[in-house]
Amino acid sequence: MSNLDQRPSPSLCGGRGFVVAEPVRELLSPRKVQLGEATEVRRLLPNLGRRMIGAWAFVDHYGPDDIADEPGMQVPPHPHMGLQTVSWLHEGEVLHRDSLGSLATIRPRQLGLMTSGRAISHSEESPRSHARFLHGAQLWVALPDSDRHTEPHFELHTELPVVTAPGLSATVILGDLDGAASPGTAYTPIVGADLALAAGATAALPLVRDFEYGVLSMAGEVRVDDVPVLPGSMLYLGSGRTELPLRAESDAAVMLLGGEPFAEELIMWWNFVARSQEEIETARDDWTNGTRFGAVTGYDGAALPAPEMPPTPLKPRGRVR
Ligand code: MN
Repeated sequence: MSNLDQRPSPSLCGGRGFVVAEPVRELLSPRKVQLGEATEVRRLLPNLGRRMIGAWAFVDHYGPDDIADEPGMQVPPHPHMGLQTVSWLHEGEVLHRDSLGSLATIRPRQLGLMTSGRAISHSEESPRSHARFLHGAQLWVALPDSDRHTEPHFELHTELPVVTAPGLSATVILGDLDGAASPGTAYTPIVGADLALAAGATAALPLVRDFEYGVLSMAGEVRVDDVPVLPGSMLYLGSGRTELPLRAESDAAVMLLGGEPFAEELIMWWNFVARSQEEIETARDDWTNGTRFGAVTGYDGAALPAPEMPPTPLKPRGRVR
């Protein structure tokens, strides 16, 4: 998915100054963002109160939307650099095309993982013939400086490890959870997991003390560390935890996002993650001039033009909140 804002705000993130070094319970409200004409998404990261959770730098939750008589998701070709995109569906399908020639249909509980490295472009759309409901999350993972210029590649993983406990089934999307590792390529210590909880279940999920964590509710009624988290909302948990108490009041699903705090300071603007204003400007020019990011073939429509750069220069700075 793309940031389709006509005037996207730059986001300065990363750096230890943002990290809460103790357990907290901060409820993050979503910001509603219009994606194209039909689709509205709830943006959880970046958020006014929180920019990143580990290397997770962008989280959109969408649906469930009834798209039986709609085209559904239609995100034209757009560029990325310095990040990975994670596509995760509970219902529906997303057809992915990219400038490497990849053509893949991502289905529920499969990992669509695109590593942009230095440059890639892609489109995402609901296939012409699609399921009635579309429900999922689109996430970005920032790449560390050592790997951000790597060659772009796309991975589709249809089999992911599942950790089970009474009333709990946890699918490991990225990184590690309780000794189970996702086959997806990760560049920093990280975890992304989809937790399905049965009504009435209580669980204590093992966590890594040095990681920071957040939980995005996808469906149902769930209490995370005794805080009710409604679908489409996220609870930031800080760090210094060795387990996470969960209780489901109904059948419920949440996404656990966590990782080692991201020490490097970043500038995010539009679909780019960089380290300086100059890098962003060069990337924007390269996309506009049709160089570096390649071309997506087969998408029925024009590529997304880059928005105007904001008038004031972007600069990483220390603590923002
Ligand atoms: Mn995208």
